[in-house]
This record gives sequence, structure tokens and C-alpha cells, in this order.
Amino acid sequence: MNVYADNAATTAASDTALAAMLPCFQEIYGNPSSLHTPGQRAGEKLEAARELFAHHLHADPRGITFTSGGSEADNQALRSAAALGAQKGKKHILSTKFEHHAILHTLQALEKEGFEVTLLDIPADGVVTAEQVREAIRPDTCLVSVMFANNEIGTIQPVSEIGAVCRAAGVLFHTDAVQAAGHLPIDVEAMQIDMLSISAHKFHGPKGVGVLYAKRGIPLVNVIYGGAQERGKRAGTENIPGICGAAAAFDEACVNMERNAAYLTPLRDKLITGLTQIPHSILNGDAKRRLPGNVNICFEGIEGESLLLLLDEKGIAASSGSACTSGSLDPSHVLLALGRPHEVAHGSLRLSLSEYNRPEEIDYILETVPGIVSYLRDMSPVWDELERGQKPHLI
Ligand SMILES: *Cc1c(COP(=O)(O)O)cnc(C)c1O
Repeated sequence: MNVYADNAATTAASDTALAAMLPCFQEIYGNPSSLHTPGQRAGEKLEAARELFAHHLHADPRGITFTSGGSEADNQALRSAAALGAQKGKKHILSTKFEHHAILHTLQALEKEGFEVTLLDIPADGVVTAEQVREAIRPDTCLVSVMFANNEIGTIQPVSEIGAVCRAAGVLFHTDAVQAAGHLPIDVEAMQIDMLSISAHKFHGPKGVGVLYAKRGIPLVNVIYGGAQERGKRAGTENIPGICGAAAAFDEACVNMERNAAYLTPLRDKLITGLTQIPHSILNGDAKRRLPGNVNICFEGIEGESLLLLLDEKGIAASSGSACTSGSLDPSHVLLALGRPHEVAHGSLRLSLSEYNRPEEIDYILETVPGIVSYLRDMSPVWDELERGQKPHLI
């Protein structure tokens, strides 16, 4: 059996997304910046896509900017808020230790440019509190950036409460909603979100398309310079096929959100219950306050990479953390931030489901993982020491 359980890394494009994209290659291929009819037709597609995103986010369509993905949206959001802050002499940015690297590495770049960054610690349940944010805001804070849902452990952050704290303090609030969009309800007005990032390929849309929402009155700075596309804030001929596919996928995900969550939650919980029965295993992140499709578990005494390779041999595609850190031997910064010791963080497995996964695939995962964990432990010198009592078990 082949099981794709790495939907937090990327998803298959849906039929709906593909159907929305195809006409944009050979029929409606005009450049939206052209004055002629083919250009105008492409422009209409672009604006319809913008309105669809705005509709589901409860946002003003003028606040929607299309980008090349979640990473670009994150870069542009942080740089825009930082530029605005610098104008007012406010050069402190508040974020968290478990953000995606698109945020963390942009913050590192801003630090080199003279900004000061505070990264909040992550509580043991993987949920940052609004109180933590309130206490860390300073008079010179220009931006708070806290992700909506974490990409590795799936925990959902109290975005509305953080939004309220930021609004009361007069500080801009950005949220990386790449894992949440299409999976959790988002209302930028009610949640008091000033800026928000989205990526289409995390909800069955195409890769290479993102959205940056910015509330009216927040001037964006360019990350890409050139033509006057996207009100001059994002140069380059718009990726009309991608944008149309993204909008169709977002619409589909939002319309079916409750049904998908109701389908996925019991499958997720079945995996969590089954896999945490393996001795010396631990669930990462709160059991309930997490994305409907996210499971992340550490198994003591094994290497996550070995587990992944053996799972792959059995047809199961999973991850040990984020796709961005795999390939390096460092354990996940998210699991370390959560307080897992290095040895434990190394033995992590992330299974991320989508509504395309079938119940029998869950059974197959549950049949397969325990045997592979035992096999790896039998070969592991570390496990041998733990079992002989030469080292204490950490979980
Ligand atoms: C995938 C992801 C990104 C990056 O999005 P791309 O479209 O791949 O650039 C950013 N943040 C989070 C939380 C993600 O999961």
C-alpha cells in the first residue's frame, strides 16, 4: 500500500484546482497589464481570485497581494512592518522560537540590519499564550509575529487573543497562517490580524503561489522590484494559472472545512492513541489543540531518519519534522523549543494527513510503525544502554 502522510510538507493539487488552472495556459493567457481584450480577461480572473481569498478571510480585497509562496509573503510582511517601525524609531520585533524558517531567517537578516528580536519560549503544550506576548511587548516593539498553527507539531495558537493584545498595545500583528489556511476558520477582522501569510500548496493548490494579506493603511515594501503589478508592491507578470488554481483550492478547502475536520480528527486521534502505546514514546504538542491532520511523536532510542527510510520502503511517506530541516542532521528547532532533549528530538515522526487519506491507510500505518521502531531499537547501541539501565530513560 502507498500512503502519503506528509501533507504539511505539500499536498497533491485537487481536481478543482487543476481544472481552474488549465484554461489559463492556452485560452486565457493574456497579460493582465495589457490593455487589449485578452489582457482584460486575464485581469478579470486575477481580480476574481483576489475577491475569493478576501471573501474567505473576511478581508478587503485591496489588502490581498499575490506572491510566489508562503516564504515570500512572510519575508514581505516582516520587512514591511520593520520599515514602518523604523520610521517611527521602533526597532523591536517579537516572535517565537518555533516559527518557520521563512520567519526566523528573515528576523536574523533584520537583526543584522539593526533590529532587535525577542523570540518567546514555547510552553510544554506547544501553545504560546497571549499573556507571554503582552509581557514581552515593549514601547519600541513594532511587530508581533506568531504563527497560526505550527507546521511540525500542529498546535493552534490563540490568535484572537494575541490579536487583541497587539491591538490594545498599538503594535502590528502578523501571523504565518500557512498551515492554518483552508484548514481552520480565519477572520482577519474578528481576530484583529493586521498581516497574514498563506501558501496554496498546503491546501491542494499549486506550488509557487502565496498570498500576503495586509490591512488597509499598512504600506508594503517591495521584496521584488520591477513593474507596477500588484499595486506596485510585487513586481512580475502575475502567475494567473497558479493564482486561479490557488483561489479554487482555497474556496474548496473553506467550503469543505468542517466536513474535512470531522473526517480527519478521529483518524488523527486513532494514530495518536495507537502510536503512543509504543513504550517510551511521547506525543509532541497538545493532544486536542492541534490541526485535524497532524500527528507528531518522539520514539526514544531511534533516529527519525532511519524510521523514515524504512517507512518509505513500506510505501509510507512521512517526515521527521519540517522538509526544510531534513537533509541536515540537526534535530528540529521546534522540538528543542518544546523542551525535548536532543536525543529524544532526533527520534521524531510527523504524520500529516489530508482528506485524501483513507481509513485503511491509517490501519496500515498502525500495523507498520511499531515493528520498525522495535527493529531499529534492537539494532541501536543507545537503546541497549537504556534497557540495561546504564542510562536513564528520558521519556
Ligand atoms: C510551508 C510553509 C511555509 C513556506 O511556504 P512556501 O509556499 O513553501 O514558501 C511557511 N510557513 C509555514 C508555517 C509553512 O508550513
